[in-house]
Amino acid sequence: MRLRCVLAAFTALVAISTTNVVAADKARIVLVAGRPSHGPGDHEFNAGCKLLTKCLGSMPGIEPVFVPGGWPRDESVFEGARTIVFFMDGGGGHPMIQKDHLEKLQKLMDKGTGLVCLHYAVEVPKGKPGDRFLEWLGGFYESGFSTNPHWVAHANLNADHPITRGVQPFSIRDEWYFNIRFRPEMKGVTPILKAKPDDETRKGVSASPRGPYKHIVEASGREELLAWAVERPDGGRGFGFTGAHTHKNWGDPNFRRLVLNAILWTAKLEVPSGGAESAVTPDELKANLDPK
Ligand SMILES: [Zn+2]
Repeated sequence: MRLRCVLAAFTALVAISTTNVVAADKARIVLVAGRPSHGPGDHEFNAGCKLLTKCLGSMPGIEPVFVPGGWPRDESVFEGARTIVFFMDGGGGHPMIQKDHLEKLQKLMDKGTGLVCLHYAVEVPKGKPGDRFLEWLGGFYESGFSTNPHWVAHANLNADHPITRGVQPFSIRDEWYFNIRFRPEMKGVTPILKAKPDDETRKGVSASPRGPYKHIVEASGREELLAWAVERPDGGRGFGFTGAHTHKNWGDPNFRRLVLNAILWTAKLEVPSGGAESAVTPDELKANLDPK
């Protein structure tokens, strides 16, 4: 009887230590959600990041860490991160460029940490912030050069890249930014998702500031790059994605899979041959929305 108790205790100890080892080995992925900004259903950074966190948490070997409310108060959350996802309002108030945050991020990038910027998080002012984004992400939304109308993108996917594994072409209305400022000659930038805005879209009626912008209208018929990947000389990987203004688009399995695949890829994890598996219910899609 006593032997059985000892054996049971030993088995329990082994189980605990095994669990700890597995947890320590898990790939840490940090998702940073910005503060509320837009109307209901738009720029739902909190709800969007929570959905992605839930999806990543159901995958083996991943430890997603969700950070609400913008830049983390405790920056140690970034320690050991394989990749960091930013989904927040950008521009001059972008949390990534305040105080010494660019320098802190530079240290992480130097270690080869991955970087994912979603929607408004791809916009920073040109100059020092823009230059850092060119290095880390391969491109950024440059005010006055890039544009942000709402339109239906018929996806043209780069089938040769792991990020598109299992992603079927989709047609989705979103505030798809385009004419992103990329590195000169697109050096090191790999297209992931392209689509062709029609001439009505190019007039920028729904853009802010309102169009038309001459250089956007004159590029009539050109395909535009809406998502891209980079591999940096420091070994780190970056992914920029201009959609996700509209929260309900996370309910589309292909839209969601593309972003989840990209997160895995920037974390240097193998993207499954059929792409990242995830499920989001209608109720989950309505959960965690910002208070209005
Ligand atoms: Zn938006």
